[in-house]
Amino acid sequence: MGDDLYAMQIDGQRCKGCGRCIEGCPVNAIQLQSGKAQILRRRCVDCGDCIRMCPNQARAFNADTLATLSLYPYSIALLPPSLEVFLDTECFSDEISFEDLQDVFSNMGFSEVFRVAEAAEVVGFIIEQHVLRKLCARPLFSSSCPAVLKLIRMRFPGLLKHVAPVLSPMEVAARLAKERAAEKTGLSPEKIGAFFVSPCPAKAAEARDPIMTTRSAVDRVIGVNLVYRDIITGLSRKAVVNRRNEAEGTVATGTGTGCSAGDRPLTTSMTVSGIHNVIRLLGEMEGGRFVRTDFVELLACPGGCPEGPLNSRKPFASISDLGGLIQKYRVKQRFHDHEHLLDIYRRGCFASAAPILPAPAEVADPDQSVHAGVGT
Ligand code: SF4
Ligand code: SF4
Repeated sequence: MGDDLYAMQIDGQRCKGCGRCIEGCPVNAIQLQSGKAQILRRRCVDCGDCIRMCPNQARAFNADTLATLSLYPYSIALLPPSLEVFLDTECFSDEISFEDLQDVFSNMGFSEVFRVAEAAEVVGFIIEQHVLRKLCARPLFSSSCPAVLKLIRMRFPGLLKHVAPVLSPMEVAARLAKERAAEKTGLSPEKIGAFFVSPCPAKAAEARDPIMTTRSAVDRVIGVNLVYRDIITGLSRKAVVNRRNEAEGTVATGTGTGCSAGDRPLTTSMTVSGIHNVIRLLGEMEGGRFVRTDFVELLACPGGCPEGPLNSRKPFASISDLGGLIQKYRVKQRFHDHEHLLDIYRRGCFASAAPILPAPAEVADPDQSVHAGVGT
């Protein structure tokens, strides 16, 4: 496994060896060596907490750049629901349409845009069917946050049977988008590049070294921070034009969105966010608690993906507002009717390729780490 598979990197020039990240890393994956922070690759779960904590911006996200667009005759930008929640609520409300967003990505060089919210609806339905038909261990965990999956593999392998045996919304989106683009253009799938616009390093790690499948359909991952300025500038111009059109009598259509866990309520479910809270809950589950809960969505970031580390310095929806926002957007748009979703489920589409195996964490050197996190 080459170093480029890893999503997190440390910029040795910027690191001052202050140790702030070492104290905050929830899994004790950072050590000081020769006065510089070093990440233990097989302990790190890519939660991105050290990006938030470093006062010297010495944490780098090993992402792809827009230059890689030229490698593909046809390219698709996969937009996560977290980006839509932000754009639709914090910045532009109903002043922009999805077509406006498509135009902005087209100006960056993409051939088309695909909404991951559509895939999240499919994944949510499959999970619901597993729960309703009692085909799985109880409670079932969502498989959408790769940082949580890594954590379970390393620290809580006895709970792996609780992970929903379905691909993540990002992975399902890439497959749906490529299939449709191949039909539309007649191009072979390898000529179509799927680019995920990511709120976090964990998604880049998932695409490069997938846990739920042998090979990811996501070809490239670009950080949302890389395209943020282009999006805001492009949409600001669109909003001005739309306002003018509306004043003149032309109505702009609204932008819909979705959420990471699908939009159909399960009997008893809960969402736990923040890596420290997730660790605490998994510890309690190992002790036999929560057996009456059907489904648990586990998200490494406090407040979920809209608070992903690559988003966190932006004016995203505040954590306290997030539950209400997600609820609001869950019911805003349906992409598939019930019969179509049932057909997808019955055909076993998007099931994970193989059981997830434990991946014991690398042992940290106690002489070189200064740890104040929840556990090791
Ligand atoms: S586990 Fe999280 S905080 Fe620790 S090194 Fe990895 S990304 Fe940084
Ligand atoms: S909660 Fe979302 S943004 Fe945060 S690490 Fe998990 S998948 Fe990434």
